[in-house]
Amino acid sequence: QPQVDTLSGRLCGAEALARWHCSKYGDVSPGEFIPLMEQSGLIIPFGQWILSHSMAQCLEWSRSKPDFQISVNLSYIQLTQGDFISFLRTVLEENSLAPSRLIMELTETYLAKAEEDTLRLIAQMKELGVKIAMDDFGTGYSSLGMLKNSPADVVKIDRTFVRDILTSQFDATFIHFVVALCHDVNIKVCLEGVEREEEFDRVRSMGLDFIQGFLFGKPVPPDVFERDFLMP
Ligand code: C2E
Ligand code: CA
Ligand code: CA
Repeated sequence: QPQVDTLSGRLCGAEALARWHCSKYGDVSPGEFIPLMEQSGLIIPFGQWILSHSMAQCLEWSRSKPDFQISVNLSYIQLTQGDFISFLRTVLEENSLAPSRLIMELTETYLAKAEEDTLRLIAQMKELGVKIAMDDFGTGYSSLGMLKNSPADVVKIDRTFVRDILTSQFDATFIHFVVALCHDVNIKVCLEGVEREEEFDRVRSMGLDFIQGFLFGKPVPPDVFERDFLMP
């Protein structure tokens, strides 16, 4: 799915979103199959597969868009089982992609309860040059105060805050404050779930760095992405 720069409205990257078309059950949503993969341990090889493919794709698309960034979702299982750092180091070497173009997304809920060993892993990822995004921000029980010492380079505000943006002053104020707080500590902010022009009009002056939502593009297969977003 494309991500755009709020000020210029131009494409700046994409989030890799997994899809499964099953011959028996048809299209199964990631909300269903990711938890199953986590329970069965299949998330480890799958996570490796999607990460290396996403990096290769990013490198290819960098030819037409030099600053193109790729965001990849990371399951907590990938960090707790196996040697994720060695794998990441290897895959970075194999792909010759500048590490700073890779953004690893971890949920707010996971980051909020991260203990010392997890924080150490995240610090190691950052030492390799990879960026960290805090996904689904605002849905957990953590406080705005956690932004102060957060390892995140990007905060992604959950799309539930856009749903009622036209009627809810609270949601607008929340977005506004999150942007102000994040910018104070050098964190960029992405708003997810902008579907309508009116919603974009409401949020466009709030200082958001990036926007991701159906208004700018739905998740599509790589060939369609190329045709729709990368061809001049
Ligand atoms: P997420 O990381 O929060 O991904 C964003 C989800 O919001 C995607 O759903 C996307 O299609 C949807 N979305 C984006 N913009 C809009 C919008 O304007 N309106 C609406 N209604 N929805 C929007 P999707 O693709 O179904 O993914 C659901 C979740 O599955 C993801 O949520 C992520 O947590 C998980 N997931 C997907 N792919 C992977 C993966 O490769 N690895 C892991 N670990 N999790 C994944
Ligand atoms: Ca995500
Ligand atoms: Ca999200």
